[in-house]
Amino acid sequence: MKEEIGILGGGLTGLSLGYFLNQKSYKFMILEKNQETSGLLKSIQIDGFTFDIGGSHIIFSKDKGILNLMVSLLGDNVVRNRRNTKILYKGHYIKYPFENGLADLPKRDNFECLYYFVQNLISKEKGLLNPPRNMKEWFYYTFGKGIAEKYLIPYNEKIWKYPLDQMSTVWVDRIPQPPVEDIIKSSLGIPTEGYTHQIYFYYPKYGGIQSLAKAFEKPINGNIITNFEVRKIKKEEGKWIISNGKQEFEVDKLISTIPLQELIKALEDVPNEVIEAVNNLKFNSLITVGIGVDKPKLNDFSWLYIPDKDVLTHRVSFPSNYSPYGAPQGKSSVLAEITYKDGDGVSRASDKEIAERTVEDLDRLGIIDKDEVILTTVYRFKYAYVIYDLNYKENLKTIFSYLKTIGIDSIGRFGSWEYANMDAVVKMVKKYVEGS
Ligand SMILES: Cc1cc2nc3c(=O)[nH]c(=O)nc-3n(C[C@H](O)[C@H](O)[C@H](O)COP(=O)(O)OP(=O)(O)OC[C@H]3O[C@@H](n4cnc5c(N)ncnc54)[C@H](O)[C@@H]3O)c2cc1C
Repeated sequence: MKEEIGILGGGLTGLSLGYFLNQKSYKFMILEKNQETSGLLKSIQIDGFTFDIGGSHIIFSKDKGILNLMVSLLGDNVVRNRRNTKILYKGHYIKYPFENGLADLPKRDNFECLYYFVQNLISKEKGLLNPPRNMKEWFYYTFGKGIAEKYLIPYNEKIWKYPLDQMSTVWVDRIPQPPVEDIIKSSLGIPTEGYTHQIYFYYPKYGGIQSLAKAFEKPINGNIITNFEVRKIKKEEGKWIISNGKQEFEVDKLISTIPLQELIKALEDVPNEVIEAVNNLKFNSLITVGIGVDKPKLNDFSWLYIPDKDVLTHRVSFPSNYSPYGAPQGKSSVLAEITYKDGDGVSRASDKEIAERTVEDLDRLGIIDKDEVILTTVYRFKYAYVIYDLNYKENLKTIFSYLKTIGIDSIGRFGSWEYANMDAVVKMVKKYVEGS
């Protein structure tokens, strides 16, 4: 008889963990705090509209095996789309990524982007530039002052709400250096593409992105306990006892996929330095605003980036363009994303204020007509983005060496504290199960 495993959290990490463990005939149970599984992949249906309330999610990957797995799990319930994404800059729709859309800029801005890119390149070749020490320097170093100051810095300041010169380059290091040929072509208006692994993306025909989480869940749904918030974890006679304050479960092994903060909070006798390290981890929370519009088509866009700081949302997507079944016939949907931090102005604003402000903003920008809005709905997720501040590695070292000594594995976006998309999560879990 194999040992019983307790999996904490039923987001994509917990569900895919169950999926792979099940294939190896392990005994396990997934304990999920919410009424339903899926975490950030949760979708809701209101009056025929489907909204991905953890933010707009599309399925893509550089890893063909993982992509095939995700797509094949959806069976017939999948559509394939070509990305048509823009950046809204001074009222102009610029092709995404920005460096591939320079010709869409006003002439002066286009010139400045090209000029500073070339100037920067020459300085780099001459060895006049120091290697970047943080994200802000990385933007200047890689793209030059034009692209950095017109788009990358304002947009990233808006989404991260954290000083970019205090963020590590870990997240941006994986972005490829733009070939000079592409930048010149882009400036002249000769078509080039960036982030090509994402040009085509998949999306569920019905049910929003949650259909993907549900597809992982299908073979294992007998092993899931919902409405169970892990509050206390202790070890007694070699067994882990997990409690929500009312009910207890006993397991031989623990794998946590809940945020590190929530895991450490539930453990007893945690050393102060570990508590301090976990308190020092930085993250962003997310508000999504779903908007139903009484118009058959708003535009052909997949999603739009909005660096303008006078606009509350940093990104709006158009779910009914991903799948026509995302909205009732003759209607369209919009999903706006807003990041915030506990205690800031956005966190204190009511859902009604957030929805009204978002509709006003989008109306002013000409993206929707507020008189055609038939519904709005607002959701909040405490854990949305991990922030790679300059000390995060040290903090993680302290936390993970403690978890190792007590024998708990912690994986997933907030369990391993990584900017991990769905494909990275599934890959991480597959590797973990194959190694265990
Ligand atoms: C705005 C946004 C857009 C994104 N877009 C994309 C995209 O387009 N493509 C892509 O591939 N990826 C995208 N992602 C990433 C994707 O959402 C993550 O990779 C994935 O959801 C991570 O799953 P997880 O299970 O690790 O975390 P989560 O989804 O956060 O799951 C954690 C689970 O643990 C539960 N939990 C927490 N505390 C407790 C507790 N005490 N007891 C029990 N349960 C608990 C939570 O309720 C939750 O269900 C996006 C993320 C965001 C924020």
